[in-house]
Amino acid sequence: MKLYNTLGRKLQPFKPQSPNVVKVYSCGPTVYDYAHIGNLRAFIFADTLRRTLSAQGYTVHHVMNITDVGHLSSDADVGEDKLEKGAKREGKTVWDIADQYTQSFLKDTQSLNILQPNGYKGRVDGYARATDFIPQQIEIISTLLEKKYAYITKEAIYFDVTKQKDYGKLSGQKLEEKETAVREEVVQDTDKRHPYDFALWFFAVGRFEDHALQWQSPWGSGFPGWHLECSTIIHETLHEPIDIHTGGVDHIGTHHTNEIAQTEAAFGHPLAQYWLHNEFVLVNGTKMSKSLGNFYTLRDVREKGYDPLAFRLLMLQAHYRSQLNFSWGSLEAAQTFLNRIRGWADLAHQTPEQFSEVNQTYQPALEKIYAALSQDLNTTEALGWLSGLVNQTDTHGWSPKDLAMLLKQLDDVFGLGLSERLDITDQQKSLLHDRSKARQSSDWAAADAIRQKLEKEHIGVRDSNFGQIWFRL
Ligand code: AMP
Ligand code: ZN
Repeated sequence: MKLYNTLGRKLQPFKPQSPNVVKVYSCGPTVYDYAHIGNLRAFIFADTLRRTLSAQGYTVHHVMNITDVGHLSSDADVGEDKLEKGAKREGKTVWDIADQYTQSFLKDTQSLNILQPNGYKGRVDGYARATDFIPQQIEIISTLLEKKYAYITKEAIYFDVTKQKDYGKLSGQKLEEKETAVREEVVQDTDKRHPYDFALWFFAVGRFEDHALQWQSPWGSGFPGWHLECSTIIHETLHEPIDIHTGGVDHIGTHHTNEIAQTEAAFGHPLAQYWLHNEFVLVNGTKMSKSLGNFYTLRDVREKGYDPLAFRLLMLQAHYRSQLNFSWGSLEAAQTFLNRIRGWADLAHQTPEQFSEVNQTYQPALEKIYAALSQDLNTTEALGWLSGLVNQTDTHGWSPKDLAMLLKQLDDVFGLGLSERLDITDQQKSLLHDRSKARQSSDWAAADAIRQKLEKEHIGVRDSNFGQIWFRL
């Protein structure tokens, strides 16, 4: 298997630290609003990675954080805490907001067949909330202060980026280069030593005096900076160095760079061996984002009559490292393709027994699919092979048992719910029976009339090697 490692910027053979076991951490959602479909791409990508690793025979341990404190409206140290912003917007407490949007995130992931992170060593819930790890975050701050990687001002405790010689290695940008780059931030804390020093802890003073989320610390009450939760959660759950860390490309320059800095400074070893980043979903060529207002949610997808899994398919049609311009037209095409494959599931459950021997003529195509996925998750190519299979259904003469087995294996890697069949009503069953009888007595007009009637109910009918079969339209 090969993966593109942002750290070093090249395609590398994948070798986990212990054979057959892979520890994966994914930066999760900030739960202050509904996730938009751009955010969901990040989680579909992480899920595809997990499914592919499992299909390759690895045991995967997956953990994901839920950010419910400390993520300011910029990824750096300026702006408002996003959770507080959500609470103000809706007139609720920050805890209610976190609960509400964690639930909506979980629902979205279920609709998209995203596997729940499975944790590690007895911790079966792989989701980890930042606010459940406050004492552990405080402990890491203590270590960083002791080791002189951090300093205290009136407003915050900062990580001193100049103390780390290879700070910025993930983005490949040296600190000196960064210093000359334009930075929007207006430095608010005049005691901050370097513009790229980042907060490990904000004191509840000044702009954060009334911050709803506050905890006691040895240095004064306040709340942790956003980057610290990921280093802490990894340290407490998977234990670094982990094998793979995932997130969106927007995390490379600041969030992941700072995660690496904290962990390496505190513990003296790397955070992760492989860093994988998904590219953005765009709308009309511009990054989909909440701040620009150019976003859609999964609810919009449903309200327009599309299956969330058609959206998953659309995401898989592009490679995770390329930008993907979202349009309703492309979602429509993905839905049509999905319906076609789902016809197989319907077929697999309705054909007569004499066709149930197994001949597995699809095996070579399935191997091509696995091979494509093992090359840095080339879902585009893998779906190309699947498309080839769809176009050949009838000529292959697969038996229903073949189909059922194939669909199960495809579902394991693509998560598209292909083996779920549609239930038809008794009335539709009896129409199908009548059509079959009409054809037996060569009453083509009657057979055709019934077909048209069923089509109005979104049931297609076809006469195949296996006899009459129906499928979803
Ligand atoms: P957030 O909930 O804002 O913390 O973001 C969750 C994930 O979505 C992060 O990994 C981001 O990098 C990712 N993300 C944000 N916007 C987009 C986008 N337009 N396309 C793809 N991923 C995105
Ligand atoms: Zn993170």
